[in-house]
Amino acid sequence: MAVHRHGLFFTKGKKRDDGMIVLDLEWNRSYDKNPLDEILQIGAVRVERLGGPVVDTFCVFIRPVVHRRFDPGARKLPELQASVTSAVSFPAAAEQFRTWCGEETVFAAWGGGDDFKALDQNCAYWGIPPVKVKRVLNFQQAFSRLVGTGQQVALWRAVEYCGIPDIFDYHNALCDALYTAVIGEWLTPDSLIQQPAGRKKRKASPRLSRLTFPRQPRRKIGPFLSCEEVLNARASRQPACPVCGRTGGVSRWSYAEPKRTGEARTYYSAFRCAEHGRFLCRLTLSPTEGGGWVARRTVPAITPEVMREYEAARQGGVFLCQKSTKYRKKN
Ligand SMILES: [Zn+2]
Repeated sequence: MAVHRHGLFFTKGKKRDDGMIVLDLEWNRSYDKNPLDEILQIGAVRVERLGGPVVDTFCVFIRPVVHRRFDPGARKLPELQASVTSAVSFPAAAEQFRTWCGEETVFAAWGGGDDFKALDQNCAYWGIPPVKVKRVLNFQQAFSRLVGTGQQVALWRAVEYCGIPDIFDYHNALCDALYTAVIGEWLTPDSLIQQPAGRKKRKASPRLSRLTFPRQPRRKIGPFLSCEEVLNARASRQPACPVCGRTGGVSRWSYAEPKRTGEARTYYSAFRCAEHGRFLCRLTLSPTEGGGWVARRTVPAITPEVMREYEAARQGGVFLCQKSTKYRKKN
């Protein structure tokens, strides 16, 4: 069979019927007025079929030239220097990638479209034609469907779940593409069928108080053994009204899954003071050296940056708190 597919019935170089390219990008989020998520690395692997062997890889580091600073996520990329010292500009990298893709127009990624949006955006910024993408298979959504969760699952968590040895660095686009491709082995063609559009309704955002208040202290919570314990902890869930200090209550957290493993994760919730209205509570979880999790809780002032982050969290996953007391603080 394999011989036929490769040699006899298919012209060399011609697109194989169920092959695909698994893509992952690293980029620097726009922090200044220039709304460009500047791509720092393109990583991709080619597979013969869903879950099939990786037959080729692609990796290019791109020298950033647009933004002056790196966002906190980009700063943590261990390969950041490879981008900074790279001689390759985005247009040249895109051209290499285009050539490498050949006639393949079916792509897969961990996530629905962020990577492809960024790719389009960067091509448009540099005035070059977009990379031709006909179909995007969202492995992350398929994985969530198969394991029966409505939440977005981070790549590293899926890798853990599938028992794939994590021998590669997570913060690298090529490695993430490799992991994503390997997870493809756990997916079924059915799980990859897109849900009808419109099913995921955008929830209206809660009306937040417009009262100004003094800068709120950050409170340290934990460490605990797991993220779940931090999110469920009473200390995490009882922020104070920034105006009167009355204790509010949080019963759910919204979050955008971190693109990279091992980095701080931010959770948001809106809570209410009977007198002063709704405020945001932000919980930033960081891994500890001992393998646990520690959090900083604060009530942030509403800035455009905070609102962007909150909106992204609201479109992401939801963690419903359990009021169970079975969780114990780790000392
Ligand atoms: Zn109040």
